[in-house]
Amino acid sequence: MTGQKCIVVGAGPVGSLAALYAAKRGHDVEIYELRSDLRDPSTTPLNFTKSINLALSERGINAMRHAGSDKLLQHVHSATIPMRGRMIHGRKPTGELYEEPQDYDIHGRTIFAVDRADLNKRLLDILEEMPNVKLFFNHKLTGADFRQRKAWFETRSAPNGDASTRPDEIEVSFDFMLGADGAHSAVRYHLMKYVRMDYQQKYIDTIWCEFTIQPKDVGPSDDPMAKFRISPNHLHIWPGRQFMFIAIPSEDGTFTCTLFMPSSNYAELEADPSQLPSYFDRYFPGVTSLISPSDLVSSFKANPHLPLISLKCTPYHFSSSVVVLGDAAHAMVPFYGQGMNAGLEDVYTLFSVLDKHSVEETNNPVNPSVVDPAIQRASALAEYSAIRTPDAHAINDLALQNYIEMRASVLSPAYRLRKALEEW
Ligand code: FAD
Repeated sequence: MTGQKCIVVGAGPVGSLAALYAAKRGHDVEIYELRSDLRDPSTTPLNFTKSINLALSERGINAMRHAGSDKLLQHVHSATIPMRGRMIHGRKPTGELYEEPQDYDIHGRTIFAVDRADLNKRLLDILEEMPNVKLFFNHKLTGADFRQRKAWFETRSAPNGDASTRPDEIEVSFDFMLGADGAHSAVRYHLMKYVRMDYQQKYIDTIWCEFTIQPKDVGPSDDPMAKFRISPNHLHIWPGRQFMFIAIPSEDGTFTCTLFMPSSNYAELEADPSQLPSYFDRYFPGVTSLISPSDLVSSFKANPHLPLISLKCTPYHFSSSVVVLGDAAHAMVPFYGQGMNAGLEDVYTLFSVLDKHSVEETNNPVNPSVVDPAIQRASALAEYSAIRTPDAHAINDLALQNYIEMRASVLSPAYRLRKALEEW
């Protein structure tokens, strides 16, 4: 199954990895991305709508390990920070602040903090160097015919799809489309016209907003850890039972922090943001010594307050012509830190199934003439949808459940007892 024209819609982390897998298999790959190139300094930064850094786990690393790119693995090893567990922050009844580490793994295995944009840029750099890959930015998928294998894209020469310029439309033919265009996927929307897709989406009553803990000013120092105000090797949680504040380390010594709260609490604070420092002192003790009260208020006013969507659908494909991956197939709430990881794993799983069918059917002794790549791909995609649906739905449910674990259960005596017994 080589030499097919494979188009990838969406150059986020999942689309970029999928393009790399397809290119390594000798396909002619074209990637179409709605936004401008995020490596261009004039592009609206990704963190305008997306969190800056993420927890990368073995699920995602394994998918990158199998991509066949040393440069990518080098990035994973050199540009990530290991997080060995959670660090729970609180205040004792005596009023004293405490920090309680809770390791993720008794063998010391870790997850890793990674800058999403850096990872995405590295993937684009790797793709750009490949002779069989073409990148098209400022191209928005607007239509698709999955029987005729044609897609239509609106192109704008102005960066970030500036609405004041008139778009042109281009038609692109393909053998195979990989739809990795995120939670509000246009590929999924068009796919629904071709398959009896079960689809379910829910906005949970939680809004998120980002803040930053700045590094310590330590001047030139031999100790790379000196600049971090709190442990760089933990995912920090200030559990508030109904809401929570978290912090994830970045290589430059900052921590990207996220406030997750019900919309009614946000509305209360939006009405009077000056309450924010006292609110934090009450529910997230110690944070105002890490982020100044004025920075808390200004970040709350400046940074977007964004919703969280959870969606499931099935099947993920139509015939041999299209499949959706990543958030386009299963956007989930971020509390298990698995959205991107599961999307990267989609890529690994999909190509493992495609490879298996390619070998199995080409070597079919009963009918050696079955070498049509479309026939091979159709059976591979059907198998992919069948095996991936229960896994994606399960991780989606676990992500919803883990919000209760993070914001409340980590404080409960039952949780501590269970943990103590596990360690014993
Ligand atoms: P996206 O990153 O959404 O990329 C889709 C791309 O498609 C975009 O570049 C978009 O511009 C493009 N596009 C959209 N429409 C079109 C169109 N019509 N035509 C062409 N291109 C189009 N995951 C983790 O694994 N670990 C974490 O710790 C974690 N933390 C998170 C914290 C928060 C607050 C949030 C909101 C999410 C978090 N996630 C985490 C989830 C993670 O961000 C997503 O799962 C991941 O970004 C999905 O990648 P993707 O490539 O599928 O989609």
